[in-house]
Amino acid sequence: MQMPKLKAVIFDLDGVITCTDEYHYLAWKKLFDRLGIEFSRRENEQLKGIGRRESFELIAGGKFSGDKVDRYLREKNEYYIKFLDNNKLSPLPGITKLLEQLNSAGISKAVASGSRNAPQILNNLGMTACFEAIVDGSMCTKSKPAPDLFLLAAEKLCVSPAECVVVEDSQAGIQAAADAGMKSIGIGNYLRNADFCLADTRLLDISIVLSFNF
Ligand code: MG
Repeated sequence: MQMPKLKAVIFDLDGVITCTDEYHYLAWKKLFDRLGIEFSRRENEQLKGIGRRESFELIAGGKFSGDKVDRYLREKNEYYIKFLDNNKLSPLPGITKLLEQLNSAGISKAVASGSRNAPQILNNLGMTACFEAIVDGSMCTKSKPAPDLFLLAAEKLCVSPAECVVVEDSQAGIQAAADAGMKSIGIGNYLRNADFCLADTRLLDISIVLSFNF
């Protein structure tokens, strides 16, 4: 069998490794309800993968002064952490199998998440040791759709961007992967520019990753 030139798979966290995307939604909902700002799952779609401050600006931009915004961002994170504390997290179906397959094939694995809570979440899942590199939102000033988080993950793994495949559930993340020069597998409904789309993480398999033409 011909060896692939693929060297690494970089995973998004929220909505790919585990279902924390739902807790982000519920925490934003709690904050915006309190502030009397209309917010539903429809508006939430555009926040997927986007940083905390950028998310707030998208929904309530210009309505509040700087220090109020800082206070609301802390409040949203407190709600989010409460949801994490009150719910047992587990990896989404298909993730553990893919990680094992990648291990056997000698392909490196990283997480590149816009969340500053990523290290804690991976720790709670008992998955920190599953990855050779972990990049979180505190390590880059620009969040997705900027390619910075993915580029830093590749640098930490000592591989070039062209040797990486990204697994992502957000349009911002697919854009970030494309701008980083990486191939992507989109999870969920149709994601523009994804090289491959899957309805669900349970369909993930190393054969998809290896089918890319490197
Ligand atoms: Mg995500």
